Amino acid sequence: MDTKTYDVIMVGGGVMGCATAYYLLKNDPQIKVAIIEKDPTYEFSSTVLSDANIRLQFNVKENIQISQFGLAALETFGEEMAVGGVRPDVAFRQQGNLFLADEDGKDATLKGVETQQGLGCPVEWLTPAQIKGRFALFEVGRLAGGAFCPLDGTMDAQAVLMGYKNKAVALGAAYIVGEVGEILQAEGQVIGVRLTTGDEVRANFVVNSAGAWVQKIAQTAGITLPVDPVKRQVFVLETKVQTEVVYPLTVFPSGLYLIQEHENVFMTGKILPDDPIGFEFSWNRGVFMEHLWPELVEYIPEFDQLKVARGWAGLYAVNTFDGNAILGEWPHLKGFMLANGFSGHGFQQCHAVGRYLAELILGQAPALDLSIFSPQRILDDKPVFESEHKLV
Ligand SMILES: Cc1cc2nc3c(=O)[nH]c(=O)nc-3n(C[C@H](O)[C@H](O)[C@H](O)COP(=O)(O)OP(=O)(O)OC[C@H]3O[C@@H](n4cnc5c(N)ncnc54)[C@H](O)[C@@H]3O)c2cc1C
Repeated sequence: MDTKTYDVIMVGGGVMGCATAYYLLKNDPQIKVAIIEKDPTYEFSSTVLSDANIRLQFNVKENIQISQFGLAALETFGEEMAVGGVRPDVAFRQQGNLFLADEDGKDATLKGVETQQGLGCPVEWLTPAQIKGRFALFEVGRLAGGAFCPLDGTMDAQAVLMGYKNKAVALGAAYIVGEVGEILQAEGQVIGVRLTTGDEVRANFVVNSAGAWVQKIAQTAGITLPVDPVKRQVFVLETKVQTEVVYPLTVFPSGLYLIQEHENVFMTGKILPDDPIGFEFSWNRGVFMEHLWPELVEYIPEFDQLKVARGWAGLYAVNTFDGNAILGEWPHLKGFMLANGFSGHGFQQCHAVGRYLAELILGQAPALDLSIFSPQRILDDKPVFESEHKLV
């Protein structure tokens, strides 16, 4: 049996594990960090299967502030993550996000707009006529309006992941290919992990950054987290439409969303009540035909003719308690740090979450206080809910 010792171990080298490793090394160049990843091709990792959108349009103040820091981090990302003169290009397309509301959702959306504007976000409320004027494809008859933020946008998730990974490794992180089988602890303190090979890796801090797999990891430490892996499907559509402007990522009142990838190619998806729980990645175009297409045609009649070109399925790590991130040390196991339960909005949060966890581990005052998302709230039964209307 081989045993290695570090200061901090990341269980999972997705965007959360790699961003946290980067911020640890940025803040303390001497710290010894290991990223343990079971699949370096990232075939099933949520990061590379995501829509890779960032938005300021949240309702909880801290979620908005997380995205404000995310946007700032993206501005300097290429420069900051350069390794050997090579700068990652995340191809950030700030085409804006448009959240459409019907009468039922109007008040909640307007309340969100007020909170966002109060924090300096350039979000505007558009009337149906204004929406039609800007985005002629949309039928607006059933809409009460929509909230638009021009700073929101989508990017290349793989490039963000590789940016953090390569920079963390360049700064000294060990990238270990292996599967963590068990968390090791002694007297209420985490002491490392055991790999499925039987090898041990020791550290007094272990970050559970295993995405949709976090529950399995936590259970080996006797901890039950309210996080389920839930399948979500994405469909890529080739249409016949010609748009005169770039369309924003648009979320329709039911949560159905649409992203213009380029010219006449769009991506779409929707959270469905019977999306299965488990580690299952099959993709079924019948779901588009039955559940998404009719609704899309109601809003965009020109979509009555299109081709479902391709698609994929990935996993949301759904926080069944309140749908928000679970961040920080588990109250009953010293050194066991959680970055879990992002429920479909974790990709954009990696910058602020990575920085926050690094600060907690290093005992530094957080630049952005995210204690509202502490795991203690689960034990205290004090959920922090976002909104039902913003589910991307
Ligand atoms: C279809 C879809 C669309 C999405 N769209 C968006 C979006 O537009 N915007 C947004 O912000 N978020 C979005 N998300 C959510 C986002 O992808 C995730 O919240 C985020 O990527 C989570 O990052 P992570 O590092 O926690 O997880 P992951 O990227 O899944 O990384 C976890 C890693 O842990 C590894 N691992 C697991 N178990 C072990 C083990 N035992 N030992 C070693 N390694 C292990 C896995 O192989 C994996 O690489 C979307 C998700 C999906 C599925």
